[in-house]
Amino acid sequence: SALVAAATGQKREIQYPRKADGRARYPSEIFGENVFTLKTMAKALPKPIFASFLKQRRGRQNLDKTTADSIAHAVRVWAMDRGATHYTHWFQPQTGTTAEKHDAFLSLVPSFTPGGEEVTALDQFSGSQLLQSEPDASSFPSGGMRTTFEARGYTIWDTSSSMFVQEGPNGTSILYVPSVYISYNGDALDEKTVLLRSNEVLSRAASELVNLIEPEAHVSHVYTTLGTEQEFFLVDRTMYALRPDLKITGRTLVGQLPPRHQQLEDHYFGRIPSRVMRVISELELECLKLGIPIKTRHNEVAPGQFEVAPIFEEASAAVDHNLLTMDVLHKVAHRHNLRVLYHEKPFKGINGSGKHCNWSMSTSRGENLLDPTVRPETNHRFILFLLAVLRALQEHAALLRVAISSSSNEHRLGAQEAPPGIISAFLGDQLTEVLDAIEQNRPLKNFSVPQFQSIKVGGTVLDVKVAALPSIARDLTDRNRTSPFAFTGNKFEFRAVGSKQSPSFPVTVLNCAVTAAVGEITAALRAQAEAGGRARPSEEDKLAVIRQFIGLTKNVRFEGDNYSEEWTREAERRGLPNIRTAPEAFTHLIKPKHMDMLVKDTGIFTASELTSRYHIINERYAKDVLIEAETLVTIVGQQILPAAFEYRKGLAEAAAALKAVDVGAGPEVDTLNVLTPLVAALQGQLRALTQASEAAVAHASDDSNSHARFACENLVPAIASTRAAADALEVVVADKFWPLPKYTELLLTI
Ligand code: ADP
Ligand code: MG
Repeated sequence: SALVAAATGQKREIQYPRKADGRARYPSEIFGENVFTLKTMAKALPKPIFASFLKQRRGRQNLDKTTADSIAHAVRVWAMDRGATHYTHWFQPQTGTTAEKHDAFLSLVPSFTPGGEEVTALDQFSGSQLLQSEPDASSFPSGGMRTTFEARGYTIWDTSSSMFVQEGPNGTSILYVPSVYISYNGDALDEKTVLLRSNEVLSRAASELVNLIEPEAHVSHVYTTLGTEQEFFLVDRTMYALRPDLKITGRTLVGQLPPRHQQLEDHYFGRIPSRVMRVISELELECLKLGIPIKTRHNEVAPGQFEVAPIFEEASAAVDHNLLTMDVLHKVAHRHNLRVLYHEKPFKGINGSGKHCNWSMSTSRGENLLDPTVRPETNHRFILFLLAVLRALQEHAALLRVAISSSSNEHRLGAQEAPPGIISAFLGDQLTEVLDAIEQNRPLKNFSVPQFQSIKVGGTVLDVKVAALPSIARDLTDRNRTSPFAFTGNKFEFRAVGSKQSPSFPVTVLNCAVTAAVGEITAALRAQAEAGGRARPSEEDKLAVIRQFIGLTKNVRFEGDNYSEEWTREAERRGLPNIRTAPEAFTHLIKPKHMDMLVKDTGIFTASELTSRYHIINERYAKDVLIEAETLVTIVGQQILPAAFEYRKGLAEAAAALKAVDVGAGPEVDTLNVLTPLVAALQGQLRALTQASEAAVAHASDDSNSHARFACENLVPAIASTRAAADALEVVVADKFWPLPKYTELLLTI
């Protein structure tokens, strides 16, 4: 049976790389060995070519032909030395994942014979192949932006991101060229183009603010930093193969909670199961080679749930690396006969998965703009940037809600385990006090930290030194796990992001909203200085603006329990949007307030890019929900009901046989009487679900939001009630008739 197969599966172990003398290689030596870094490039290219590349890259110009040809040649040789036979532009269409199409280096050139009847095989990679490719792209979502007669899309090498090789089949490898994906007219069709644009505008706005308040700083640019904590489930692949719902939709559409799941709270940070340990360790090794700095690994709250997190990096590199990590983990898990689930809520009643996006801004000199330092109350730069983030959140909370909305994340948001649909920020006691004190123009309450603490051990008092705190705020921000957007020491942690989604769009939206807020604060500072006849804001001017924005942004700060009923009511009093469903959220993307910010004020999107995205997310939602409904119809109609019929038949035959020999068939008949109404109820639900699915198909229209709303209002509840009826049956039907592996088998077989 499946269980036996799972339990006796082959154990895979790989050898950690060693030096010639047998000693283990250091991770720092392996780091990035499969990446064509700037350093590698510098070694491989003639000096003037490399210099010209650096110059053109910084100015974001197109590369000239000579430079492109030289780089293409150098990278081909480098990659072929690592077994590469193919190259691919690697890009991020609006599907949440990455896309690639492989081309061989192999090419045929007419031979040097007079008749040209012979050809010569060569390995080639030209500058133009490096720079640009035209995938047959009409099948990627475009939200109506590319009409079929103009179906062209181009991928173009993103020179800010390094090329790398990844393992291919049969000992070969593949050269990956990170790319952006745009239409013939230059519209963004992907996630990366807009992210790069948003980094650019935020850099400009933030540098301007820093240089205004600290003229001696001479900051040339500011970059956003991102660290993504990735949560996921691992299930045995044999079990997975027997669950069509998991295979098709990524989550279980039926299934009862097992008697033991997470209530013992023994999984979080527990010992990682050895099979999973081998997977994560192999993942880490692959990531090391790819220059992805995985730092942390641990068990998560639910059984079968784990997390890995990298060291933070510049945002667009961090996004690339998160997507790559997900991809590599998927492959590695497969080799260990496990299946990774990235869905935000694969199991009902058990914690779901998120992707906490830790976000901050750093100056060209490497200073973190959200570092409170030892005395945040006197650090005006920190306070101003902190307020800019709060202001961004306050003005564009609905947009952030759009950026995290999908049919899958919907099951997690607000389910007593993840932040609700109300977006607010948590600052912690100390920063709250700092802002209150500044606003009220009073001295700071004493937040003295005990440097030494005496710990009593069996009657004797030992002086145990508690580590001196490096900077007060870092450790004094208590953890509020319920907040969707929490300040955690020297960065904000956007926790509502879903585990499955690309972090790109949430970060893009955040960057844009902060850009607008930074601009507003800069303007306020200038106005304040001007009013006083000063060229630059004085300390008093800064304080005046700080007070103004503390007052303005107060309503978006919340320190309490985000899961509580009171907060929902309180948020309503404060006028904060409480957006309950994804289709409702989507409408905010094209509301004038947000559209103006994204299109006019920051110029990150064109109006048509935004409406196209609006259609894509709506269509995606409707399709996802419809696929779930149709999958559930099949499972119930073709697996669960037939199993129940079979069980009923067995009971009925037993009852008849018992009666024939004059033995009481009471127990069998009782069970049949329990079973029969449950079967009838499920059959009724199935009919309703089938009708709702058909209605949803018929409802498809040009108004993508209306289609999504229809799915949300009609299909989502029908799926839930069909599930409830199936789950009620699961407890009654004999295990040997039940056609699907149950939660116990899925969650506890690793
Ligand atoms: P916590 O335990 O509070 O979640 P960690 O220190 O474990 O915080 O960090 C979580 C993630 O945040 C890691 O990926 C880390 O690299 C990242 N991170 C730390 N500092 C920053 C920063 N300045 N900007 C962005 N991400 C950061
Ligand atoms: Mg965290």
